[in-house]
Amino acid sequence: MSIRGMLSQSVEDYLKAIYKLQEEDWVSTSELANRLDVSAASVTNMVKRLATLGLVSYASYKGVRLTSTGEKIALEIVRHHRLLETYLREIMGYDWDEMHEEAEHLEHHISKEFEAKLDKMLGYPTHDPHGDPIPSRDGTIISIESEPISKCPQGIALTVRRVSDSNTEMLRELEAFGLLPGANVKVMPDTKKNGTMMVLAGQSLIEINLELASHVFASPTE
Ligand SMILES: [Zn+2]
Repeated sequence: MSIRGMLSQSVEDYLKAIYKLQEEDWVSTSELANRLDVSAASVTNMVKRLATLGLVSYASYKGVRLTSTGEKIALEIVRHHRLLETYLREIMGYDWDEMHEEAEHLEHHISKEFEAKLDKMLGYPTHDPHGDPIPSRDGTIISIESEPISKCPQGIALTVRRVSDSNTEMLRELEAFGLLPGANVKVMPDTKKNGTMMVLAGQSLIEINLELASHVFASPTE
């Protein structure tokens, strides 16, 4: 049995949360407690267990980091999540929040074979519906540089690469505007006023508030 076969769902959720919080740095147990919405005491217990399993390094004064084994598992779960979201959205027509909830559950239960078939059926997607990269089977991640459209150069052809996935209301608004990953946009020059800006989204000229615009990431169209 592979190591993943022996892990509980909550171990996998911890590894995924640490993966998302750790960039260069160690993750503090309080950050982790916040993210997972559990007590500091349960985080400390679990982190010690993860360290015993060789999945994280832990030092009480620094916090926690994934080992390479831990990172491999985290990437696999992230891969499942993003492939499943792509499937739920594109094939099954799920709404944004239902899609995420469903993927949160299913990500722990699919087999390698299911994953491979799903990947093939979807045409080996590199990005999920939010535009977040889907790690490849060997853990490679392709990331496309992008910045919020509120900061992008004005008057040139841009492509939306990613939208932040934190808020469903916002995602619905962006969808109504046609501002999802893959969309063509142009920031109209000198139109920022009263907290809004004008953007050409496909063929339609729209007024979008700057707060919303700060969650849409684009880069020049190649
Ligand atoms: Zn999600």
